[in-house]
Amino acid sequence: MRPYLFQFRVAFVRRISKLIPIMRIEEATKLDFKDVLIRPKRSTLGSRKDVDITREFTFKWSGLKYKGVPVIAANMDGVGTFAMAKAFAAEGSGLGVALHKHYPLEDLEAFFDQDGADSVWYSIGMVGADEEKLAAFLKKRPDAIDKLCIDVANGYSEHFVEYVKRIREKLPAITIMAGNVVTGEMVEELILAGVDVVKVGIGPGSVCTTRKMTGVGYPQLSAIIECADAAHGLGGLICADGGCTSPGDIAKAFGAGADFVMLGGMLAGHAQSEQQVVDRNGEKFLQFYGMSSSTAMNKHKGGVAEYRASEGKTVHIPYRGGVEDTLQDILGGLRSACTYVGAGRLKELSRRTTFIRVSQQLNTVFGCE
Ligand code: 5GP
Repeated sequence: MRPYLFQFRVAFVRRISKLIPIMRIEEATKLDFKDVLIRPKRSTLGSRKDVDITREFTFKWSGLKYKGVPVIAANMDGVGTFAMAKAFAAEGSGLGVALHKHYPLEDLEAFFDQDGADSVWYSIGMVGADEEKLAAFLKKRPDAIDKLCIDVANGYSEHFVEYVKRIREKLPAITIMAGNVVTGEMVEELILAGVDVVKVGIGPGSVCTTRKMTGVGYPQLSAIIECADAAHGLGGLICADGGCTSPGDIAKAFGAGADFVMLGGMLAGHAQSEQQVVDRNGEKFLQFYGMSSSTAMNKHKGGVAEYRASEGKTVHIPYRGGVEDTLQDILGGLRSACTYVGAGRLKELSRRTTFIRVSQQLNTVFGCE
C-alpha cells in the first residue's frame, strides 16, 4: 500500500473509532458487603455504651440542621409506614422513615398533625399524580414537612435531573434526597441540580430483580465508596440504599463513607408493616414485595404497565413481631462495630475503617442466622 494511503487509512480508523462507541470492560473488581470485613483496631474505648451513633449534618441546599441515628426505613409498602414512624419516634434516637408514596392525602395530613413526624421523609416519584398530591398537601400544610425523598428506579435520565431542578426551585428550604444512582459523575450532577442527599444503589435490594432482568447494576460497597467521595467533594451527602442483610452490613456501609443507610428487607415483616398477617400451618407470615413488582403495580396502578417489566419480587417472610428488638440489634451492632475500630462517634467510623478482602465472611454450618 502506498504510504499516503496507509496514513489516510490509519487516520480514518482513528476518527471512526472515536465516533462509534465501543464496548469497554473495567477490569478492577468492584466489591459487595460480603466481599469484605472490617479490620479491628486498638482502641481506648471502654464499652459500646460510650459510643455515640448519632450524626449531625447541615444540608447543603436546604441549610437545615439534622441530628439523629442516620438509618432510614425505605419508602416501601411494609416498611415506610406510619406505624414504623411511630415506633421509631418512640425509640427516641432519631431513626428516619421515608413514607411510601401511596398514602391518601387525608391520611398524610392527619399523620403530619401528630407528634413523631420529625424524622419522616415525604416521598414522591416522577409521576404527575405524586407532584399534584404534594402540591395539594403543601397548600394545606405549608410547614408540615422539611424532608422530601424523590425516588425513581433509574436516576440517570436527563428528565429526572430536570425534574429535581424544578422541585428544588419550587421548594428551596426543603431537604431533598433523590436517586437512585451508583456512579460519581451522576452523584455530582444531582448535587449540582439541588439534591442534598443522593440515594445510591441500583440492583442490590432484597426484593429487587433489576440485575436479573436487565443485567445492570453495581456492587454496593464499591458504589458507596465511589459515590461518597464524589458527594463529599461537593459538600453533599449520600444515602446507601439496599443490600444490607445484617447489622454488620450497615456498619460496612457507614465504614465505606455512607452518611445515611436505608433499609428495606431488614425492617420488613414486623407488626409495623401494615400488611396482613397470614397463618400457614400454625406459622405466621407476611407478604413483602418490591415497589416495582407486579404485586405493587397491581395494588397501586391497576396492573403492570406494558412498557415496563416487573423489576421486583414478592416473597412471604415469617412474621417477626414488633420492630423494637430488630432496632436494638441494629443499634447494638453499629455501636459494637465502632468499638472494634476505636470510633467514639459514628462520624469517625469511616476514617477508622480498613476493609480486608475475604473469601468467606460467615460460618454457615448451622445456617445463616
Ligand atoms: P433492601 O434493604 O431490601 O435490600 O433494599 C431496599 C431498597 O430496594 C429500596 O429502598 C429500593 O431502593 C429498592 N427497591 C424496592 N423495591 C424495588 C423493586 O421493586 N425493584 C428494584 N429494582 N428495587 C427495589
